Formats: sequence, structure tokens, C-alpha cells
Amino acid sequence: MKNRIALVTGGSRGIGKEIAIGLSKIGINVAITYLSNEAKALETVEEIKKNGVRGMAIKGDSSIEEDVSFIVKEVEEELGTIDILVNNAGITRDNLLIKMKTEDWDDVLNINLKGVFLCTKAVARSMMKKRYGKIINISSVVGTDGNAGQGNYAASKAGVIGFTKSMAKEFASRGIRVNAIAPGFIQTDMTDVLKDEIKEELIKNIPLGKLGSPKDISNLVNFLASVESDYITGQVIKVDGGLT
Ligand code: NAP
Repeated sequence: MKNRIALVTGGSRGIGKEIAIGLSKIGINVAITYLSNEAKALETVEEIKKNGVRGMAIKGDSSIEEDVSFIVKEVEEELGTIDILVNNAGITRDNLLIKMKTEDWDDVLNINLKGVFLCTKAVARSMMKKRYGKIINISSVVGTDGNAGQGNYAASKAGVIGFTKSMAKEFASRGIRVNAIAPGFIQTDMTDVLKDEIKEELIKNIPLGKLGSPKDISNLVNFLASVESDYITGQVIKVDGGLT
């Protein structure tokens, strides 16, 4: 994987950070994006560089087309064209439907789904030219199985799955593989906001008896980014401790 270049959206914290570091450990140069947390993004870049590869962080909102164009241009100038795109940036704005504000619906759909479309489109042309690319989209088991109080998030993550399967078919002849990972509940800032009693209740339903760690996701990203998974495209792989 030496000299390959990856872009990981939302790499300042949580799952994205671990994915970025994991890729750097197999020799890949990694650019990450972040929305506001510059200090944490720079910490991730330091960790990436410790593995002897190049790393960079760029501020930008995945749901804004101009930001995405800027990000891809910066990466291409600094590192080269992107071989591996990990669409990881995502948010939650949970509420029961009756109480859900339209703004919370729009924010979640824009960042979690439109962001995946914009980033994919921005890297597609150069991947098609090279006849090589790996696109890995971070969905969720909430997108496959639904969850009360997460109608907006479930719709966005189900959308990511439909998009993944369509792009796999559209890009296969160009050597670009597109897969999705559907994590269950993973220990990050996103799940830290859940009350302890809710977490305990959740864990009771997980056959393996614990929340997942970002490393559990990063391990699978490394496999999907590598040549060892070259015959796999259009798949949704769950990493959920048996939950669903
Ligand atoms: P997290 O800890 O909240 O981190 C979110 C990351 O996304 C941060 O790096 C954040 O940047 C970045 N981000 C947020 N909005 C952005 C935007 N508009 N543009 C660019 N970057 C943005 O989340 P996480 O738990 O690691 O989740 C990562 C992905 O996994 C998400 O897609 C999430 O839906 C999915 N997922 C998570 C779980 C889970 O249990 N944690 C389960 C299933 C799926 P800043 O640091 O600058 O804010």
C-alpha cells in the first residue's frame, strides 16, 4: 500500500481518527478533514506521521460543495490524487419524530448523506482516470434496522447504503470498489452523550456484551482499503457485536 493516498472525512476524533491512524500503519499517506476541532485534528496528524508516512489536516464542511472542492484540491497539491476515500464524517440530532425540528432533519441529511455524495463526486474523476479506487462509506446498523428517536439519522444512513450499492455498480468497470461499513454502538463522543442507564440497556442487547471500539472499525477499513478485498464491492458489512 506504499505511496497510496487516503482522505478520511471527520478524522479529528472517534472512529475517523482511528481509521486515519490505522491506514497510516499500513503505509498509506493520510489527509483528514475536520469541522471545528483543529487541535484534535493536528494531534491525529502527529500520530499519522509517527508511522513514517505523510499526513495533513484540512478544515472543511463535507456538506458544502465549495469546501469539498477546496479539500480535494489541497490534498492533490500536497499529497497527490486520492486512491482511498473514507466517508466517515457524521452527526446525530436525535429526537422523536413529533419533536424533530426540520432543521435537525436537514443538518443530519446534509452532513451524513449529501456529504458522502459530494466527496465521492469530487474524487471520482481522478479515480476513474487511474482505473483504481477504494471508497468506504461509514453507515450504521441504524440505517439497516432503524431506531426509535433517530428517524433522520436512520434515513441518512440507509441512504448511504443505497448510494454505496449504486456507485459499486456504476464504478466497477473502472476498477473502483465501493463498500459500506455499518457499525453498531461504538465508544466515541457520539455515544458518550447517552445516559449510563441507556448504555446499560443497550449492552444487554449486544450478544458480545460490550460496546465496540473505533479499532474494530479501523481493522475492517484496512482490509477494504487493501488489495486483499479486491473482489468485494457493493457490500454492507456490519460490525456490531452481534446486535442485529
Ligand atoms: P464523533 O466522535 O462525533 O466524530 C465526528 C467527526 O466528524 C469529527 O471528526 C468531526 O469534526 C467530524 N464532522 C462533524 N461534522 C462534520 C462536517 N460537517 N464536515 C466535516 N467533518 C465533520 O463521531 P463518531 O462516533 O466517530 O462517528 C463517525 C462516523 O461513524 C459517523 O458517520 C457516525 O454516524 C458513524 N457511526 C458511529 C457510531 C457510534 O456508535 N459512534 C455507530 C455507527 C455509525 P470536529 O472534531 O471538528 O467536530
